[in-house]
Amino acid sequence: MSENEENKNMENSDRDGGSGYEEICFVCRRPESKAGKMFRLPNRINICEDCMQRLMDQAAQFDYNGLLNNPELLKELNKHGMPNVGFVNMGDIAGGIPNSQRIKKRREKKEGEEPVFDIRKLPAPHRIKAQLDDYVIGQEHAKKVVSVAVYNHYKRIATQDQDDIEIDKSNILLIGPTGSGKTYLVKTLAKLLDVPLAIADATSLTEAGYIGDDIESVVSKLFAAADNDIDRTERGIIFIDEIDKIARKKDTRARDVNGESVQQGMLKILEGTEIEVPVGANSKNMMVPLVKINTRNILFICGGAFPDLDEVIKNRLKKQTSIGFSADLKDKYDKDRNLQKQVTTEDLKKYGMIPEFLGRLPVICPLESLTKEMLVEILKEPKNAILKQYQKLLSLDEVELLFDDGALEAIAEKAIERETGARALRAIIEEFMLDIMYEIPKDDNIGRVTITRDYIEGRGAPLIEVRTGGQPRIEQTGMA
Ligand code: ADP
Repeated sequence: MSENEENKNMENSDRDGGSGYEEICFVCRRPESKAGKMFRLPNRINICEDCMQRLMDQAAQFDYNGLLNNPELLKELNKHGMPNVGFVNMGDIAGGIPNSQRIKKRREKKEGEEPVFDIRKLPAPHRIKAQLDDYVIGQEHAKKVVSVAVYNHYKRIATQDQDDIEIDKSNILLIGPTGSGKTYLVKTLAKLLDVPLAIADATSLTEAGYIGDDIESVVSKLFAAADNDIDRTERGIIFIDEIDKIARKKDTRARDVNGESVQQGMLKILEGTEIEVPVGANSKNMMVPLVKINTRNILFICGGAFPDLDEVIKNRLKKQTSIGFSADLKDKYDKDRNLQKQVTTEDLKKYGMIPEFLGRLPVICPLESLTKEMLVEILKEPKNAILKQYQKLLSLDEVELLFDDGALEAIAEKAIERETGARALRAIIEEFMLDIMYEIPKDDNIGRVTITRDYIEGRGAPLIEVRTGGQPRIEQTGMA
């Protein structure tokens, strides 16, 4: 390597500090890919050529002679400093622009380099599902549907440039009661696939221009989750929860800025379009750099509880069958807890989702409401099950924590009463574990604690076994 080249290389790697981030002009906030070469000042401050030129021009126009010939103004200046000029506090800007406001450089493709998504390396649907099984209990159908949809989605990205046949995008709509694991499923999926994930709540979204977040801010969140890396962002997952809350409002004449208009606003982004999102901020303004993101390969998953959807489905099913049996059927449908399995796009349209919106979510996937048995399994089976977490905490005090079957069932029964699905489990356990976590470390002799149904239902104390020369002795404590 010639000395010249070496110097140049050193300069380049020095410029981004080897971090892979682009430099940003301190004045106009454009990244170097747009603004060109930067002048480097101390404290990692960079200024692009345009801004430097403008600063020089302004300095040249300043009437220094006029100032020197004006003794009154000079006296003022000595007293208060320059009028109308805010001095920059160098302490505030030391270190330059933070990484959250900078953009990662796009990696240049080298000849012979492997594509980002190699179809042969994509885990097949059954392997994705097997991995999900380790964390998500039940929801067999949903796990299967999601595994296939995700597999097809990334296959689509991998083959995109190969021929003219473009595979359609497989955005997903998850329908299921609160706490049935919609968010959890998506989170687990993103972790397993190692892609960035952004979660947003549809209720916080409004039509662009109104107070609230517009849909572009969600892409901005994904960009932050991907460490400001454009390539990673463009194959991430965006989960929009509570999508049923943006159903068209019935009987309203006012402009529906939170409902139908949000659905309209999302159409283009769901399908794939190029949008400009602010870097390191929630809204676009003069001071934040913008970056172009193409949403074509971002997988959108929407989720919602659709509380009254059962009624819509029931009405449709009743209409379809002959009138003579209706009394019987009404009874049958009323008892069916998983009526949502039979959902169709027609039902969702009746519910208030607009047809164009549903057209962009081709995979509709209902989740079951969790039964008592499933809740018990959620307590103890998943890799990071709640019980395992508490057992680990107590094992650090060398105490063994056990739950008998009756206790687990009692916890599940309490959770079903609260009607918030598996979400209630943690809250219930926290309530009664508080006493245990407080009392146990007091006494070094305690070797084993067994939680029973009676303790959960407030009728007795947990079984405490004490280490006495190897023979555990059963004791009752004041805890109840
Ligand atoms: P929602 O359907 O309302 O999005 P979440 O996914 O947020 O529900 O579920 C809340 C919590 O309950 C999760 O963090 C997870 O720990 C637990 N959970 C819910 N469903 C399941 C499930 N099927 N398997 C394992 N854990 C679950």
